[in-house]
Amino acid sequence: MADLPILSVRNLTTSFLSGGVWKSVVRDVSFDVRPGETVAIVGESGSGKSVTSLSIMRLLAPGFSRIEGSILLNDRDLLALSEKEMRGVRGNEASMIFQEPMTSLNPIFTIGRQICEVLTRHKGMSRQEARAETIRLLEKVRIPNAGARFNDYPHQFSGGMRQRVMIAMALASRPRLLIADEPTTALDVTIQGQILDLIKVLQEEEDMSVLFITHDMGVVAEIADRTVVMYRGQQVEAGPTDEIFQRGQHPYTRALLAAVP
Ligand code: ADP
Ligand code: MG
Repeated sequence: MADLPILSVRNLTTSFLSGGVWKSVVRDVSFDVRPGETVAIVGESGSGKSVTSLSIMRLLAPGFSRIEGSILLNDRDLLALSEKEMRGVRGNEASMIFQEPMTSLNPIFTIGRQICEVLTRHKGMSRQEARAETIRLLEKVRIPNAGARFNDYPHQFSGGMRQRVMIAMALASRPRLLIADEPTTALDVTIQGQILDLIKVLQEEEDMSVLFITHDMGVVAEIADRTVVMYRGQQVEAGPTDEIFQRGQHPYTRALLAAVP
């Protein structure tokens, strides 16, 4: 079948060491993301959405965290890979963007330099090739005057533009999967809509799958083919977005839906 999942998460359980005991904050989460699909994870603050996405990318501190279950990305179990292999995955197969782009952009380097570095390090490009590709990527995410902005620093961009820079950087690795953890939450409503539209367009142009994390059912309705609802670390519902909106069963899902204007 052509539609084998790109990402297949099974019984994901993540625990943190706290006061000498392991405490699980994500329990038994299972879902698939198929090619070209957008899957939303929705839930209130503290429900375990970020821990789920950080577990998939293996970005939690080892020693203080324990991830169980399986995370198959293109049929490879990420939990079985070495840290070095994981860096390859992050540079080539899966990218992540966050709510606050400043957490991933380095304030002391120009944005052009930071995107070029992804391209020279992971894509084997020369500096010249990387520069041209960086400008192409900045144009792709609709940054006005892309060429001139190459030498600007992160703080010289507005919040919305900075999120576009982050998206350009995420695209530099040509990922099959983009994980977006509340990328529009910190933005004004108008800018939020623009970024959502951009992600939708890019997803088609780049033939990516997207795992989109949000607390906002309005955003889910706008962007997701399928939806996973999380509540207190557990998955309480999963299915096509239409069905969740029409027939969501869990009381928490119903509460979320009741809050949609
Ligand atoms: P969400 O993204 O849905 O708002 P999180 O995934 O960030 O929620 O957090 C889920 C729970 O895990 C919260 O109770 C949070 O306090 C806890 N948590 C998150 N990160 C850590 C960590 N590094 N160590 C211990 N507990 C954590
Ligand atoms: Mg979060």
